[in-house]
Amino acid sequence: MESLETELERARDLDEAALADAIETIGFECTRCGACCKGYEPDEGEHTDTSDREPHTATVFPDEVRALQEAVDYDWRDVARPMPYGLSEGEDGPEGETFEWALQTDSCGDCTFYSESEDGTGACQVHDDRPLICRTYPFSVDLGGTSQPMGEAVDEEGVVRAHECEGLGRDISREAAEDLAGALKERAIREIEEAIGVRDSYEPAAVDGVVVHDSEGAKRTDGRPVDE
Ligand code: SF4
Ligand code: SF4
Repeated sequence: MESLETELERARDLDEAALADAIETIGFECTRCGACCKGYEPDEGEHTDTSDREPHTATVFPDEVRALQEAVDYDWRDVARPMPYGLSEGEDGPEGETFEWALQTDSCGDCTFYSESEDGTGACQVHDDRPLICRTYPFSVDLGGTSQPMGEAVDEEGVVRAHECEGLGRDISREAAEDLAGALKERAIREIEEAIGVRDSYEPAAVDGVVVHDSEGAKRTDGRPVDE
């Protein structure tokens, strides 16, 4: 298996012009349907307004949580929740260890920063500060490693993969494609740097409740280090 360091080198060597070419070939214009910001029906893959759907789950890095906190003057917990994977329901609520943070969701399972006008047009309340994963959706990069972020691709061109999105296949300007390519490369690098940070800082934490391991160490759900 290739090391994360090898993958990181590959990410740093990504050719932005080639990424932009691939994005132009696939084509994309956001229709603001909101599907990538909302909870979903797991069985049907549809995005509905029922209360029992799966919550929206998108990774947000620790520094991105702080940027969002500053932008909207929210507490850590209002911005991010522990990734649910690996947690179980204990007598006093969720417990266990997990890795990384997800954008916080509302009671409908939608991203807490998502809003929708009466005609169904979606909007992001933190558009200028949105995390890299939002800035680059519906694209990801395949670096040939074991991880395939964001699951199945519906289209691909070179190392660029495209995921479910009704805006795919639309014309995109060179300028927009280059902007997306730059963000995509930045995200590819950041994801691997974060994974290396988690690997290097991980130490089991013997505390009650939920512990979240990110690249800065083990934290409580309010973002404080466990040893504070
Ligand atoms: S799913 Fe695609 S078209 Fe819909 S809001 Fe997200 S990026 Fe835009
Ligand atoms: S931060 Fe904005 S773009 Fe990202 S999921 Fe939330 S509403 Fe959508």
